[in-house]
Amino acid sequence: MKTVSLEQEINPWEAQSARFDFAARKLNLDEGLWKVLRYPNRELIVHIPVSMDNGKLEVFTGFRVQHSIARGPGKGGIRYGPDVTLDEVRALAAWMTWKCAVVNIPFGGAKGGIIVNPRELSLNELEHMTRRFATEISILIGSDRDIPAPDVNTDGQTMAWIMDTLSMHLGYSAPASVTGKPLEVGGSAGRIEATGRGVTICAVAALEHLGRAPHQTKVAVQGFGNVGSISAKLLEEAGCTVVAVSEDYGGIYNPLGLSIKKVLEYRAREKTLKGFPGAQEIGNQELLTVECDLLVPAAIGNQLTSRNARDVKATLIVEGANGPTTPEADAIFRERGVFLVPDILANAGGVTVSYFEWVQDLQSFFWSEHEVNQKLKAILSRAFSEVLKTKEERKLDMRMAAYVQAVSRVAGATRERGLYP
Ligand code: NAD
Repeated sequence: MKTVSLEQEINPWEAQSARFDFAARKLNLDEGLWKVLRYPNRELIVHIPVSMDNGKLEVFTGFRVQHSIARGPGKGGIRYGPDVTLDEVRALAAWMTWKCAVVNIPFGGAKGGIIVNPRELSLNELEHMTRRFATEISILIGSDRDIPAPDVNTDGQTMAWIMDTLSMHLGYSAPASVTGKPLEVGGSAGRIEATGRGVTICAVAALEHLGRAPHQTKVAVQGFGNVGSISAKLLEEAGCTVVAVSEDYGGIYNPLGLSIKKVLEYRAREKTLKGFPGAQEIGNQELLTVECDLLVPAAIGNQLTSRNARDVKATLIVEGANGPTTPEADAIFRERGVFLVPDILANAGGVTVSYFEWVQDLQSFFWSEHEVNQKLKAILSRAFSEVLKTKEERKLDMRMAAYVQAVSRVAGATRERGLYP
């Protein structure tokens, strides 16, 4: 393998393209189709004027990228951050195409973002910026065209503002135009837990495939936000022993196991994991290489790189975060026989329940949480089995099997539809 700098190794567009190219080669994809799928369909750049609380006018730059709408409307989150770039949004849009295809839900891939530090804005300024952004990108988004969802630094409130803005323009309520909404405005039961639940479904399926029992499995979880804390809670309920969890400032470790119920209560009370009784403190990099059987990176991207992959003790990795592992680290895990369930499968529980939210909004008929969870389990279990079958038939690792599965579905749809001249 050629040597690359860490900067190249962690570039999301490079990582996405490397995996797509590999899958396309495995599928002997026609050269023309290869080019079509490699690049996004549409990229919109908008400059959003916002009247700030101090009376001055500020202009923010935002993006919406649709990578593919061959299998259905675009689907993907909107993130706010000072370091958002078009390159990143482009990579994440393609990632969504593959994620929706691997679990076989009828969506294409899209993503959006605004270059802004939301912590520097008042609630009023945030709302104005969001509503103006929604208006600017309304030429692309809508329930049958492209459906946004929350992502980094956006939430149910952001989605409610976007839905309301689009509805005001239409003159009627359009709840199916965004997902991840609060329950009061057409959100779905089970959406908040969906990604962690999906991680757990995949982890349990992987343990079963490897002939291991949950009660013999020690788990470390990086990130104790939505995905990490729910994965830790549900893995504990499935019988695993969670030995370590962490947040951005560091984590806690007890080789005999942490009670996640107590950790959640402690964190809710103290607003930190630090000082949790009976546990020793560890750094969040240290957490990745702690003695355990299952590692769930559920924080941010590029955590497992060529610099630390050889030190990871876990023999099973289930990716809760998007892009936590670089292609170089993948190669090391492959060589070491580590079984890795990739992000596009393992964290697809969120987009799957977003799909359920969209379906429920379109038919104005809402399901119980039990029904949502059952349907989620059916979709993810089927997708896991399909990827495993592709892995074994084609002698690939799980990531490449998932990409082969996804690229083949999107290529099939694109080919069947044909090229409009
Ligand atoms: P969140 O903001 O709720 O939680 C993120 C957590 O990561 C926090 O506990 C934070 O302290 C921690 N963290 C940040 N930097 C860290 C570091 N360097 N080391 C250790 N911990 C660190 O976010 P979330 O919704 O849980 O998302 C986590 C990841 O999962 C992201 O990569 C996101 O893109 C991905 N994801 C989320 C969803 C979803 O439905 N929420 C769906 C698919 C993928």
